[in-house]
Amino acid sequence: MSVELDRRLAETGTSFLLFPQPRFLRKRDGSPLFPAPETVTVSVPPGEVRAGPADDRVFVVDAIGKTRYGQFNRPPYRGPAHPPVTPGEDGHFTHLVPGTRAFSAATMYATVRRVLDLWEDYFGHRIDWHFESDFARLELIPLIEWDNAQSGYGFLEFGFGRRPNGAIDHDLPYCENFDVLAHELGHSIVFTEVGTPSSPDDRGIDYGGLHESGGDLTAIIALLHFDSFVDHLLDETRGNLLTINGLDRVGELSDSREIRVAFNSRRMSDVGEEPHDRSLPLTGALFDTMVEVFQQELVRVGLIDQQLREDSNNLPGSSVDLEDIARRFSAAYEGHAEEFKAALLLARDYLGTLLAVTWGDLSPDFLTYHDVLRGLVRADRRITGGANQPIIRDCFAWREIAPVPDSLLLRPHSLVDCGLRTQQATDSPTRVLLVDHVADQPSADGHRRVAATTGPAGT
Ligand SMILES: [Zn+2]
Repeated sequence: MSVELDRRLAETGTSFLLFPQPRFLRKRDGSPLFPAPETVTVSVPPGEVRAGPADDRVFVVDAIGKTRYGQFNRPPYRGPAHPPVTPGEDGHFTHLVPGTRAFSAATMYATVRRVLDLWEDYFGHRIDWHFESDFARLELIPLIEWDNAQSGYGFLEFGFGRRPNGAIDHDLPYCENFDVLAHELGHSIVFTEVGTPSSPDDRGIDYGGLHESGGDLTAIIALLHFDSFVDHLLDETRGNLLTINGLDRVGELSDSREIRVAFNSRRMSDVGEEPHDRSLPLTGALFDTMVEVFQQELVRVGLIDQQLREDSNNLPGSSVDLEDIARRFSAAYEGHAEEFKAALLLARDYLGTLLAVTWGDLSPDFLTYHDVLRGLVRADRRITGGANQPIIRDCFAWREIAPVPDSLLLRPHSLVDCGLRTQQATDSPTRVLLVDHVADQPSADGHRRVAATTGPAGT
C-alpha cells in the first residue's frame, strides 16, 4: 500500500494496537525485540467495525472449550463463546490491554483485515473469498485449546505454542503472531487470484511451492508496513539487504521465520518437491528482486554509488571483501535513514504490485516456476514499461529458475522441421518448392516474386 494511501486510511479507518512480531522475540540482552505495539488502522471506518470485532468480510468468535475443526465438524461455530469484544467510545479498539483475551481477539481481526486491505490495494480490486459459495465471511477463532493452528475452508482457528515440557503455553497465543496469520491469509489470496489445478494428472509441484512462497511474501510485504519493523531492519543491516550473503546481518530479526525465509540462498538444485522446501528459491528470487530495485533507487537518488551496488551483488565465495561492503553501506546510511526507508518502501510497493499483476494472470494448470517468471516479466512491462526486467531475469537465473529441461519452449525448429527445407545436402529443392509454391501468384505490382531462402538451417 502506498505511503499516501496509508496516511489517508489512518485518518478515516478504525485503529488497533498490533505487535509487528511476537512479543516473545527477545534481543540479545533479554529485553523484548518490539516492546510496544504500533497503532495500525484498518480501512473500515469507526462505528462500522462491530462488536466481535466483526465487519462484512471477517468476524471473530472467541469460542469456549472448542476443539479443532475436522472432517465432521465444520464452520460456522455454534457453541458457547466469550462476549464479543466491543470498541471504545470513539469507535476504536486501542483501549485493549496486551495479555488479555480481548486483546488477542482484536489482534486477530486487525491483522487479517489489515493484510486484506494492503493486498486489495495492490490488486486494485476487492479480493473475494475462495469459499464464497458457502460462506460470506471468514470466521476467526483466536484461542482454542490446541498446540497448533490451522486455516481451512471458511475459517482460521489458532491455538497456542508449547512449553519445553510439551504442555500448552497459554502465554504464546499463535493468533498474536502477525507472520503466521498473514501467511495463512496469503494462501486464501493465492486460491482466489491464481485458482487451483483442474486436472487430476497435474502433480502441482511448483503450484505447491508457489502457494507457500505466496504465503511468505504476503507476510513479508505486510510486515514491511510496520514502521518499527522497517526501522529495525535498516538499522541492523545499515541498508545492506542483499540476501545471498546470509542472515548474519539481520541480527536479532533472524529469529523471525519470515525473515529467515526471505534471506535464504537456496537454488533449485538445493531443493526437493516438498512445498515449503521448494518455495525457498522462488521466495528468494522475489525478495532479491525487491532488494535490487531498492538498491537501484539508492543509486538513482545518489545515496550509494553504482560500484557499491555491483560489489554487493557479487556471489558468495567471490573475492569481494564483505567487511568492506558493510563499511561502505554503513557510511552511506549514516544520517540518511529516512531516505533509505523511502527507497525500501518504494521497492516494497513495486514487489506488491508486481506479484498482484502476476498472480492475477497466472493459470494454475500444470504451473511451473518458469510460467511465474514469464508472468513477472510481462507484469513488469505493464508496471514500469519493462525497466526492471533485467533485474528479474538475473535474480531468477541465479536461483536456477528456467524452463524445465524437456520444455517444448527449448526445442529448436530448423527449416527442415518446419517443412521449409528438405533433408538433402543442397538446398536447391527448397528453392524449387518455394518457387513452385509462389510461381503462379503474381504480386500486387504484377511482377512474379522471387523466392528466397530464409537463412541457414537450424536458426
Ligand atoms: Zn503455508
